[in-house]
Amino acid sequence: MSSEQNNQHYPVIIVGAGLAGASAFYHLSKFTEVLLIEKRAKFFETPYKKVRVICAHTNQWIPDVLNLNDEDIFPKEVKQVQYSSRNLSANLKPWEEINKNIGNNMDEGKAVVRLLKEGLKGNGKIMWETNVSEIPKAEKMNDGEDSKDDYMRIKTPKGEFMTDLLVLATGSHSFQFNKNLGFHTPRTYNAVSAKFEIPEEYIDDDVPMEYMFHRHPKISEIGPLAMIKADNYINLHYVSRESSDVMKEKMLRILRNYDHISPFFRHATPQPAKMSEQDLSLYTASKSAIPEFVDDHVVLIGEAAGLVSEYYFEGTLGAFASSHYLAKFLKELQESGKTGRKENLRPYEKLVKKNILSNWEKSQKANEELFYEAGENQFVIWDAYVKAMRKHRKVRENIYYAWYHPDLEHYPLKNDEYCGEKIYMNLPLSRKVSLAPFFLKLKFS
Ligand SMILES: Cc1cc2nc3c(=O)[nH]c(=O)nc-3n(C[C@H](O)[C@H](O)[C@H](O)COP(=O)(O)OP(=O)(O)OC[C@H]3O[C@@H](n4cnc5c(N)ncnc54)[C@H](O)[C@@H]3O)c2cc1C
Repeated sequence: MSSEQNNQHYPVIIVGAGLAGASAFYHLSKFTEVLLIEKRAKFFETPYKKVRVICAHTNQWIPDVLNLNDEDIFPKEVKQVQYSSRNLSANLKPWEEINKNIGNNMDEGKAVVRLLKEGLKGNGKIMWETNVSEIPKAEKMNDGEDSKDDYMRIKTPKGEFMTDLLVLATGSHSFQFNKNLGFHTPRTYNAVSAKFEIPEEYIDDDVPMEYMFHRHPKISEIGPLAMIKADNYINLHYVSRESSDVMKEKMLRILRNYDHISPFFRHATPQPAKMSEQDLSLYTASKSAIPEFVDDHVVLIGEAAGLVSEYYFEGTLGAFASSHYLAKFLKELQESGKTGRKENLRPYEKLVKKNILSNWEKSQKANEELFYEAGENQFVIWDAYVKAMRKHRKVRENIYYAWYHPDLEHYPLKNDEYCGEKIYMNLPLSRKVSLAPFFLKLKFS
């Protein structure tokens, strides 16, 4: 974009071209003029390689331009999931057991590129390599009275831009904006990730599951070592409260020495022994929805609003669903001629809360308490969970159901209760006694 175009006013400006911003850009550019500002360089020719698990309950919100049958973007159906610890594994095979797959693995970089290119066919413009540096509160033109002339102003090194509605899709990157604008910030942790190329002819033999959720006390107390498989590469990552430096060192040790994952690397490039810290990527990962994510002339979507589940760090759901509801709602708002005043934006927030938080959030919070907040006991509880999965078909069914059932608003919490009882039954006798109050409290909370 040339400098003469600076200081322009747009009906909508989105900051951030991750999954949430790109989806919003695609939807909104169909019916309004929208400018998307992204700090990264244009990545259309070489999309970044990050593979994500998309649980089937998210399918209803995936933008129509992303076709689940397109293997370029969705390279693997999730047919086998391994839940494991250092001693035990349960290999869930939903396709064999209930004839359902619990989701797909999605190449995020390719999905984002598709959404952005489609958005450019509508009323969308993208400004790359532009770091938004400051966003003051909405400017009121008429002494604090709500008016159609009120706007948000955005400062960048390439100039200032004005908008009637600012969509913050900044993920976990720019929480200073949340704070300046009076929003809360979600809980945030460090994440470290490694990528390995594996030729397509070997990948399914070397890595027999699409997703692995592995808990180990020496790796992290707040998340799994997770592996996700694409067509010719895998991503391994974990989330922690430790510093990035400690995590990088630890990740290299895990990759080089941990027997549980060493079969994955038979045909992998790079080989773990030859890796250095430069081969690892660092991220921040946030979770827990913030209490409010609308204010005058500004809305938050995706991870910026903490729309990432507590237990499993599932953020694709929040990214797709929040951008879907935003578009649906803004179209109606525009047609009605109403302004972007906070009260007028509330229905968007209500839709998101009702349809993707509700019971689902309760379930995720309970899981978090069970699996990440019981201190040392969490790993004993985790082992009992893996044992329960192996022994009880109904436990496995309930887990599958949690992944694919679309009605999150009415997600049956009794399914979790059933699993909780079976976990308790599979605890060692000594822990049954000491953990009884903890389980009772969870059951009745
Ligand atoms: C290692 C890891 C693995 C994960 N695996 C899964 C998974 O398997 N399944 C799942 O459902 N979820 C997963 N998640 C979570 C999920 O990927 C994210 O929650 C989701 O992709 C967030 O999308 P977003 O668009 O909200 O944010 P982001 O993808 O973070 O996008 C934010 C964008 O905003 C841009 N930006 C930020 N600040 C500025 C600024 N000031 N100016 C301009 N641009 C800016 C950034 O460059 C970025 O492009 C994982 C997360 C991590 C870290």
